[in-house]
Amino acid sequence: MVRKKKEYTRREIGDHKLRPESLMMGYGYRPEWSEGAIKCPIFQTSTFAFKSAEEGKAFFELAYGLREKKPGESLGLIYSRLNNPDLEILEDRLTLWDGAEAASVHSSGMAAIATAAFTFLRPGDVLLHSEPLYGGTEHLFQHVLPQYGIEVIGFPAGPDGPEQAEQALSDKSVADRLSMIFIETPANPTNDLVDISHCAELAKRCCGDREPVVVVDNTFLGPLFQHPLKFGADLVVYSATKFIGGHSDLIAGAVLGSEELITRILETRTFLGTATDPWTGWLILRSLETVKMRMTSQMKNARYVADFLADQPKVSKVYYLGHIAEDNSQYEVYRRQCVAPGAMVAFDIRGGEPEAFRFLNALKLIHLAVSLGGTESLAEHPATMTHSDIAAEHQPRMGITPALVRLSIGVEHYEDLIADLDQALAAV
Ligand SMILES: *Cc1c(COP(=O)(O)O)cnc(C)c1O
Repeated sequence: MVRKKKEYTRREIGDHKLRPESLMMGYGYRPEWSEGAIKCPIFQTSTFAFKSAEEGKAFFELAYGLREKKPGESLGLIYSRLNNPDLEILEDRLTLWDGAEAASVHSSGMAAIATAAFTFLRPGDVLLHSEPLYGGTEHLFQHVLPQYGIEVIGFPAGPDGPEQAEQALSDKSVADRLSMIFIETPANPTNDLVDISHCAELAKRCCGDREPVVVVDNTFLGPLFQHPLKFGADLVVYSATKFIGGHSDLIAGAVLGSEELITRILETRTFLGTATDPWTGWLILRSLETVKMRMTSQMKNARYVADFLADQPKVSKVYYLGHIAEDNSQYEVYRRQCVAPGAMVAFDIRGGEPEAFRFLNALKLIHLAVSLGGTESLAEHPATMTHSDIAAEHQPRMGITPALVRLSIGVEHYEDLIADLDQALAAV
């Protein structure tokens, strides 16, 4: 197989530009490269033969950054920790939804986030991030990065976010060291929003000659329903374990952005060894063919579920993007930066942990499990599960109460989901 970038990249028919969903089945691959196989093979190999010693030398010069790329030159296949055809094709396809120049795929969402952090942060730097964050990200930021001399400052997602972020950076000694703004929007588990454009604008004006990178964890709504690069973000990160993989059968992650920034991420990936493997890459290629169908079906189901929950006397509050009131300041942010409300719904049950647990233990169709974005619906208790690492005294200010239950809605029939929720609420 000889994969020459730029030669296979049909993205239009005449003047007609093809949409991502039409390109998910074939972009970046041609059957004639592999015996006419419609699907690209799994390149289950650790290493690749060079045609000549000169070629091997040239590939390594690029891989180790010993010289600049010549026009049209791309990194040759060397060794599967550096690159592999399944991963390269996957990276090309992932760029399409977000309108990114380049992507890198990783062995998990955490591997993607950690690789980005170690690429752009140095001892003495400041990392500003929205709260709450995914539990693993929160642990990395609060407990691991400070051991490397990185100062970590949080600001809340939701309506108070912009003001508090500005306030943190009004301290010049902080602004002078800011290297990264990392945001997760909508926030997990409360669906509070962070204004991406505001963060991008803040990064441009806060810090003199420094250009902090703005990173958005787009796992909850991407790749379909939110495109942070369009709002000035520099990098998008994904847990591909969730909607992109979509079947709860793999762990993977990705980073998307400009060619320049992704080249730096790929260098770190090579030396930390955080690339994913060919088989996982191939599985995600398969998943991407149905990502629009799955996410659209999940999004529609979630609306029925959220509407049902909002009417239940045993439910005191529903956290769902499709229910933000027009007079809420978050509504304008939602309309501007999100395409649709997605498939994550959380709610407070009347009572506390005992009532939440009775509900969770009574579910019959919906599985009691963490994770999200798969074809099957899942339910969990953030305070004692995904967000148990956040100290009990900090949880309430992030909206995480003992009464909170988080649902990830799948592709089942919505009436079956509602029947299950109805009987589990009756058991409380
Ligand atoms: C799951 C998740 C992660 C971490 O991804 P892994 O694939 O589990 O490493 C990061 N961010 C968000 C929002 C997530 O939901």
